[in-house]
Amino acid sequence: MNYYTSQITRLIEELSKLPGIGSKSAQRLAFHIINMPKDSAKQLADSIVDAREHIRYCSQCFNLTDKELCPICADPKRDQKVIMVVETPRDLAAYEKTGKFNGVYHVLHGAISPMLGIGPNDIRLKELMLRLQKDVDEVIIATNSSLEGETTAMYISKLIKPTGIKVTRIASGVPVGGDLEYIDEVTLLRALEGRVEL
Ligand code: ZN
Repeated sequence: MNYYTSQITRLIEELSKLPGIGSKSAQRLAFHIINMPKDSAKQLADSIVDAREHIRYCSQCFNLTDKELCPICADPKRDQKVIMVVETPRDLAAYEKTGKFNGVYHVLHGAISPMLGIGPNDIRLKELMLRLQKDVDEVIIATNSSLEGETTAMYISKLIKPTGIKVTRIASGVPVGGDLEYIDEVTLLRALEGRVEL
């Protein structure tokens, strides 16, 4: 069943391992790549290797970065006493796009989901609690409004409450089950401004 030379077959196989890429899309991408100018194909390949080699998690907020601290944590103009908790680096990027949040973030890399067997120890929650030993005024929980996001928000607020630090949750203007990444900036801003104390 091998219609193509082994190089193309291998390329199609590798591409089809990516999330959301079925075998048809993989074929389409593979043919696109082999029709690219050689330089462009090399740039694509290099950028993949380079990113994988150098990008790591920020030691403070677990955003993606190529340094010890991400540009947000390292920015002296950002308010280190206000921490917004998000599920993924993509959610962080969505809030950054609004340009209106001047605090820092904490990326959990997931949400608690008993159904999928993801517990509090499987996300960066311990690391968040460690950060709260420093001087922190407010923790804004901006997990998604999905069941998992709400479960995570409840869990975190219960953990933080006894410390006396103010805990808020972004307003429910964010559609239920909505991925923060796909929500427009105005809605995000409203959700942030309308946050309520838990
Ligand atoms: Zn950071």
